[in-house]
Amino acid sequence: MKGIAAGKPGEVLVFDFPSPEPGAGDLIVKPLACGICSTDVKMASRGSGGKIEYALGHELAAEIVTVSEGEKRWEVGQKIVAAPYLPCGACYYCQHGQPTLCKNLFSVFLSPGGLAELVKIPRDLAARGTFLIPDAMPVDIAALAEPFGCVIKGVEDVGLKTGDSVLIIGDGPMGVIAAAVSRYHGASLVMVAGMTPHRLAVVEKHYADVVINVGQSDLRSEVDKHTHGRGADIVMSAVSSAEALSNAIDCVRPGGWVNAFAGVPDGTTISLDLKKLHYQQYFMTGSFGVGPNHLVKALNMFASGRVNVAPVISAHFPFAQAIKAVAYARDRAGLKAMVTFQ
Ligand SMILES: [Zn+2]
Ligand SMILES: [Zn+2]
Repeated sequence: MKGIAAGKPGEVLVFDFPSPEPGAGDLIVKPLACGICSTDVKMASRGSGGKIEYALGHELAAEIVTVSEGEKRWEVGQKIVAAPYLPCGACYYCQHGQPTLCKNLFSVFLSPGGLAELVKIPRDLAARGTFLIPDAMPVDIAALAEPFGCVIKGVEDVGLKTGDSVLIIGDGPMGVIAAAVSRYHGASLVMVAGMTPHRLAVVEKHYADVVINVGQSDLRSEVDKHTHGRGADIVMSAVSSAEALSNAIDCVRPGGWVNAFAGVPDGTTISLDLKKLHYQQYFMTGSFGVGPNHLVKALNMFASGRVNVAPVISAHFPFAQAIKAVAYARDRAGLKAMVTFQ
């Protein structure tokens, strides 16, 4: 069966994977929609290291085509979303409510990946990380449960409270989603800083109170204008760069929170003004990944109808053009690229 995989560094290709064989408790699903993530772009640029084992894609909505004998929870024909990986629930970190620090996080995963004709959901993931899509929900929206879940975790990690002001640095898909999620979580002011006019236009129309084009205006003075000169209560850095995080620290109010939300390459460092840290007592953390409960929260958010989620997807590609979808994400042509299967 066909899947879309990273080949040589920078290459994305169609690869013939063995059809997945279900073991006891496993599900076999047929993808319906799968979003393209910056992680896929990263994996494609790194390449597969000579041996192709996995397909790209982990933002998956799918239909169950095979259940094992005696399966009670799932039925053929049900539409589901599945987490890409699964915290074990038993290690030190899981027991401290920090699921994405789980030491066994990647021991269970979608196989070979979401961009394939068939996908195996291993037993534990089927039991604890797979969720029914509500009947009325379009499958491309449901496939956004993973990226929205990551952002929901991200705002939880910085304790976003009703009435907070939030600055998001970055107008890529995750920055735009962060604006939508912040508003849904009760932020009174959502500011998004970016450099891409067509993306900022979408954010301004649907998700943010203020957009700041950092190519045209000074970020900190714009933030000051809207926060009585204090800085934002919460700043999310959703750009993969040291400069973005330094700017985030520059824009947080004393006692506020900074989230290093975007992943960065190995060895990325910033210099830290320790005097500012000491006297301004701001907090800083990062956020990585998603736990199963965040997918549930995302689905509930979509089902609430309080957020217009659809504009996050700026292009749909049929599975036959999935390679183009990865290129679209790599080239930052729009926002989220969504692959759909018939
Ligand atoms: Zn993702
Ligand atoms: Zn664990």
